Amino acid sequence: MHGAPTAAVVKADAYGLGAAHVAPRLLAEGARHFFVAQLSEAVALRPLLPGAMIGVLNGFSAGEAGSYTVHDLTPVLGTLPEIAAYRAFAARIGRKLPAMLHVDTGMSRLGLSDAELDAVAEDPGLLGGIAWRYAMTHLASAELPNDPLNEVQRRRFADACARLPPMARSFANSSGIFLGAAFRSDLARPGAALYGVNPTPGRANPMRATVRLTAPVLQLRDIAPGQGVGYNASWVAHRPTRVATVALGYADGYHRAASGRAEAGFDGARVPLIGRISMDLLTFDATDHPALQPGDRLEMIGPAVPPDEVAGWFGTNGYEVLTSLGHRANRIYAAL
Ligand SMILES: *Cc1c(COP(=O)(O)O)cnc(C)c1O
Repeated sequence: MHGAPTAAVVKADAYGLGAAHVAPRLLAEGARHFFVAQLSEAVALRPLLPGAMIGVLNGFSAGEAGSYTVHDLTPVLGTLPEIAAYRAFAARIGRKLPAMLHVDTGMSRLGLSDAELDAVAEDPGLLGGIAWRYAMTHLASAELPNDPLNEVQRRRFADACARLPPMARSFANSSGIFLGAAFRSDLARPGAALYGVNPTPGRANPMRATVRLTAPVLQLRDIAPGQGVGYNASWVAHRPTRVATVALGYADGYHRAASGRAEAGFDGARVPLIGRISMDLLTFDATDHPALQPGDRLEMIGPAVPPDEVAGWFGTNGYEVLTSLGHRANRIYAAL
């Protein structure tokens, strides 16, 4: 697993963590290739990433053609009409412009179809006039190492590249990097793994935690058996209970779907969430945690409560846990 060049995917505000902070740090650590989804994201990052390639995964929008040259951006092109439009733009300004070529090998979202590949193989001129940096494709099931689709996509990509003019290749996302040497290419494109999401679900996380979300206890109150907690009194005390009310809610990206099943970390232990998640407040059963005081902070996401586990409570994946993070929290950028 050593020695393969690696880009950094910083789309969606670096998976919710703040691309304006994250991307320059990755540049300082040696990353020279970055990917975002949208043109506007690339334009915003360009001044922060001098000299780096910035790939725009969603491609070329002819209505904003000038932005790609003004900001030195590299669109990822995935249809023949899109390629033709980019070539026409390049010809109009008399320059050979950079691009990446997206090939669909199983996602059926973006990228040249088999029929378009046939057309290109028959008439390589369809790709003329463009400085092709990489051919790329995207894995659909890389986090499931036993899914046969991985090998199918690997073979389709190799076959496609054999029919294209020679160019470098970009293949694996975070989980793809861990599928083994056959999935290595000239440029991996990890996103989630950079932010501490486990790229190998079901196995120990090879990545370090990068995010910690804590929230303070506002009040503690003792309630009697039979007393309800929160909206609709969906949780009812069955013993004398100490309720901790914490300043976080679904408006902060702590999904309401986790009502009644989440936990928070405190002092090396887990405190169970009780009742409905409100917009701005959470309630916990602190009865078994007598040390907990108003002002103490519970770890909602972090080394003790990994995003992948929170994802289980939210009914989603670690990616969405991060991209859901709200903007009310005070964000501090430091080593964990
Ligand atoms: C988002 C994305 C990635 C990064 O995927 P991770 O699973 O977060 O590593 C790589 N390539 C493409 C095309 C993407 O859209």
